[in-house]
Amino acid sequence: ELVAHAVQDGLSPLPGVGNVIAVASGKGGVGKSTVAANLALALQAEGARVGVLDADIYGPSQPRMLGLEGKPQTTPDRRILPMRAHGLQVMSIGVLVQVDQAMIWRGPMATQALQQMVSETQWSDLDYLIVDLPPGTGDIQLTLAQRIPVAGAVTVTTPQDVAVDDVRRSVAMFNKVRVPVLGLIENMSTHVCSNCGHEEAIFGRGGGQRMAEEAGLSLLGEIPLDAGLGRSTDTGAPIVAADPEHPVAQRFRDIARRV
Ligand code: ADP
Repeated sequence: ELVAHAVQDGLSPLPGVGNVIAVASGKGGVGKSTVAANLALALQAEGARVGVLDADIYGPSQPRMLGLEGKPQTTPDRRILPMRAHGLQVMSIGVLVQVDQAMIWRGPMATQALQQMVSETQWSDLDYLIVDLPPGTGDIQLTLAQRIPVAGAVTVTTPQDVAVDDVRRSVAMFNKVRVPVLGLIENMSTHVCSNCGHEEAIFGRGGGQRMAEEAGLSLLGEIPLDAGLGRSTDTGAPIVAADPEHPVAQRFRDIARRV
């Protein structure tokens, strides 16, 4: 149970939001957004009111993963209302700006767009807001972490991502802005055969645990490489919502209980 509160100096809480949890990764393509979407749904399945803020400005995937369509509505006083997906309140940079335009933005413009999204979205009565951060540990992530009062961060990695350095960098970044790191999630830790269900540790076992220990973190969970998970996430209905009894959905539920 997360009871931590933001410790960053001088940040006022986001209106309508209890705890902000940031989902980070050292690099792209490790499943950060997949984890963010499913973790949000898993927390909701545990009874919490949950929102998702997609801040991955150069590759916003939450619109596709959560099946968002259209544009968000605005209030008469020009606040942006989150969109709804699977019971979640969702806002994505991908529904606010032209992504091909954003791709060529330099840091300051990207940061400005993200800040605008953060300050103008009108969340309503959330226990948790899951923030899908851009991959890496650059200026944009730092600025966001300095502007949003984050209760805790989770870092996503894969076994191929052997460089514990990536994880260390991520931890160092959060330390710098005084955001507690809740732990590490290893994605694609094993492969599950979609025919027979056999689970194979292609990259050997225990890598996530070792990496977590080396980085001084706890391992929050391991998610296998699973065709069903990939498919469900790419078609707008993440596995935790689409198939709650699926073993991978249960893994996300376990992680949600540890967060
Ligand atoms: P990131 O946010 O780190 O860039 P994504 O969450 O967008 O990564 O995932 C990249 C791709 O890999 C997506 O197509 C996603 O569906 C797929 N994927 C992620 N994790 C898994 C997994 N455990 N099993 C199968 N496919 C996965």
